[in-house]
Parts: sequence; structure tokens; C-alpha cells
Amino acid sequence: MVMLIKSIGSEGPTRLFVGGVHGKEYRTTVPILKKFAEIFDKKEELEGKLVIYSFGEESGSYVSTLKAEFYDTDAGKELLSVIDRHSPKIYLELHSYPASNYSGLISPDRPIEKGVPPLVDLGSGVLMHSISPILSKEFDDDDFCILIDVPGGYSPNEKFYEMMGEIAISKNRREAILKLEEMYPEKVDEMRRNYMNFYVTIYRILRPQNDFKT
Ligand SMILES: [Zn+2]
Repeated sequence: MVMLIKSIGSEGPTRLFVGGVHGKEYRTTVPILKKFAEIFDKKEELEGKLVIYSFGEESGSYVSTLKAEFYDTDAGKELLSVIDRHSPKIYLELHSYPASNYSGLISPDRPIEKGVPPLVDLGSGVLMHSISPILSKEFDDDDFCILIDVPGGYSPNEKFYEMMGEIAISKNRREAILKLEEMYPEKVDEMRRNYMNFYVTIYRILRPQNDFKT
């Protein structure tokens, strides 16, 4: 069941922050999103609207957002309907992971194993990357979509909330990336490298058999 945590601002471009879309992740994401909503202090700089939702306890088992089946679950359908309702220009999806999953999430083998680039560790196990390729089809090229995955039970520091705040006041993809580059220059580079490697890997798998024959 998705619940609105807070809606801030009014007409204009919308930013949508959501968390806890599957499993028990809501236990970590609800307190983080509530705290962020409470301490967000850039309302004057917000042109447009910020809406924050979190999912609660879901019936059924955990389904990865990388799988098409997720978007057929109750939570997946609700997520699509929230995105459809708000048509956000900026979309942040907050997840949490058990410590045992860390090495798989940042593994260079992730392109082969999961069909997506590895996540990048911003520090303290806070992982960042783009959202599921299935969901990104719902957005325009100019929209900014980011996935943040934090360790289960994580209690963020000030910089984490500051980063969320900077994303929240960005009006489009370009602005959001510039803000992230200011805060985490090396990490944004690492994300770009991961993407390059990902595409090279995919190319190697899919290239025509006679590619290098003359
Ligand atoms: Zn997740």
C-alpha cells in the first residue's frame, strides 16, 4: 500500500521521491523519507512541487524491480499509477539492501548477471545508480531518474539529506547531474565508466558473428 508522506510546493515541474517498493525495505525507507520531509529546508528554492511517497508492508514475496513481474504486483501497479499521476521530471527511488547483498550490487559482473551496470558506493554503503531499465521507459530523456540503495536500518548523515535536497530542487536532468557532480565528482565519473563498460559488454554479447572478419 503506497502512502503519501508529504507534498511540498505547488504548480510546476514535479519531483517524485518513493521508497520501500518491495519486501521489508519500507522499514528503512519510511523513517528516512519522513525525516527528509521534516528537515527539507529549501522550500523557497523549490520551483514546482515535491511529492514523497513510501510503500508499507506488502503482501506477496519480494520481486526485483529489474523483473517485468514486479510491475504486475500490487506495489508495482501502484508505483506505475503514482508515476502516471505526477509525471515527474525528477524521480528518486529509495531502496534498502541486506549487508549480504553488497558485493553483488557493486560487482563488475552485474552487467552479465543482472543486465544492468553495478551500483556506485557514495560512502557508508550508500549505493547509487539508475533505475530499472523497465521503469525508465516511463520517463522522457530530459527527466532525471535515480536509484539510491542504503543498507538495511541505515540512518543517514547530513550529507545524505543535503544530496536529497539538491536533487529535490533540481528542475531537470542537467541540473540534477550538475548538483551531484559538485557533491560527488569521482562517483559521477565512476557511474559514467560503469555505463561505458556496460555498453561494451552488451555490444560484445550482441555483436554480429562476422564483426571482425573481412
Ligand atoms: Zn529494493
